Amino acid sequence: MPGGANPSTPNPRTRNKIQPRQKVVVALFKYEARESGDLSLEKNQEYEVIDDSQENWWKVKDAKGNTGFIPSNYVKEKKLLGLQQYEWYVGDMSRHISESLLRQEDKEGCFVVRNSSTRGLYTLSLYTKIPHPHVKHYHIKKNDKSEFYLSEKHCCNSIPDLINYHKHNSGGLASRLKTSPCDRPAPATAGLSHDKWEIDHNELMLLEELGSGQFGVVRRGKWRGSIDVAVKMMKADTMSEDDFIEEAKVMTKLQHNNLVQLYGVCSKSRPIFIVTEYMKYGSLLKHLQYLEKNQSISQGLLLDMCIQVCKGMSYLEKHNYIHRDLAARNCLVGTENIVKVADFGLARYVLDDQYTSSGGSKFPIKWAPPEVLNFTLFSSKSDVWAFGVLMWEVFTCGKMPYGKLKNTEVVERVQKGLILEKPNQCCKEVYEIMRKCWSHLPEHRPSFRVLIEQLLSISRSILVD
Ligand code: AMP
Repeated sequence: MPGGANPSTPNPRTRNKIQPRQKVVVALFKYEARESGDLSLEKNQEYEVIDDSQENWWKVKDAKGNTGFIPSNYVKEKKLLGLQQYEWYVGDMSRHISESLLRQEDKEGCFVVRNSSTRGLYTLSLYTKIPHPHVKHYHIKKNDKSEFYLSEKHCCNSIPDLINYHKHNSGGLASRLKTSPCDRPAPATAGLSHDKWEIDHNELMLLEELGSGQFGVVRRGKWRGSIDVAVKMMKADTMSEDDFIEEAKVMTKLQHNNLVQLYGVCSKSRPIFIVTEYMKYGSLLKHLQYLEKNQSISQGLLLDMCIQVCKGMSYLEKHNYIHRDLAARNCLVGTENIVKVADFGLARYVLDDQYTSSGGSKFPIKWAPPEVLNFTLFSSKSDVWAFGVLMWEVFTCGKMPYGKLKNTEVVERVQKGLILEKPNQCCKEVYEIMRKCWSHLPEHRPSFRVLIEQLLSISRSILVD
């Protein structure tokens, strides 16, 4: 075929044409396969993504060609890895959580780099024992040559170079950078394995009682002897079980750092168990009351708790999921001062009229806006009203809203537009946000998405980030 191309020889022009690239991810945490069909992950190893059509569980291939499902929140796409490949980078961690993490490590020169609350900037948080144990926060600044620095005399082309420099020279910092907290706890997975929401009762070991609530007793447990879980043992006849079991399939898929993860249910035997992520410090309400008695609490810490709840709620809002019973008693606190929203959506399955009807004695009247009191009309905006009350609970360290007022008196006040007074600990900007949450008309209340920005902006102005 003179002059013509032989179809079987590659055209030299296209030989090097880039193939549509496979998505390659790097494991941020170790993961042990739990079911056949899962694949184990080794931290820092690369995997090729075969199927990422589901949000929470992706099918990947390892270097040996083994394939299986892995939790998508355990990996990060290689090309987006950026600073995440470094042990010292902790992403969106707040000032307070970084402080509790570093204090817990208690090592001179222990540090992390985190995203500053001003988008695009970074903060170095450093622990030193001199002259007394404390954490110092430094903004990583950029000069007009786009170089990074902590002290103007020592500029570097990249943040990793800067960190490396200060590992060898304190260069004006309170200490040389020595170590960073390694092996941070892996996050909860959306369900205990891919497409798994039914949990075998025999694989749960039940341990001590953690508390009890509307549905019955909650106990700590271990799944397959190793994974910490909380087990809600549902009292008979307290909920419409079949409807809830259906819903649990959807709820296990909701996954966010500030939501208590639902792992699944044991529905084959009675009583049914709801199995969730275990949160070491229990209810936010009790935790606030404990903190008030046992240590001085700063506005910053309280604001940080509100921001965390707001982030979890913003995720629910984005997924059109209404909580219906948001309150400090329904949030939980875990290690590193992390706060997560629990029990979202459960209220719909409660059978007790006293809880579900706005005239009932167990109905959360004090967290309810006018449209819920009048027409039982729930929406993300009724959650926003409840969030304002939760902020009030946080800033009063767990006081009862409206004190000893009876429910009927509270309803009268709310209908008249009378709102909770400003807590002593709270600045006027924070109280202004609560007031916006308590706007009479739902459409006048801000969304959770907007609230996050407003709360972060206050946090930047009252704190040296
Ligand atoms: P509830 O039935 O959700 O109101 O839970 C009752 C109490 O059990 C809470 O106030 C907590 O003290 C405790 N509890 C519930 N869920 C968990 C969990 N996931 N981790 C730790 N403690 C929990």
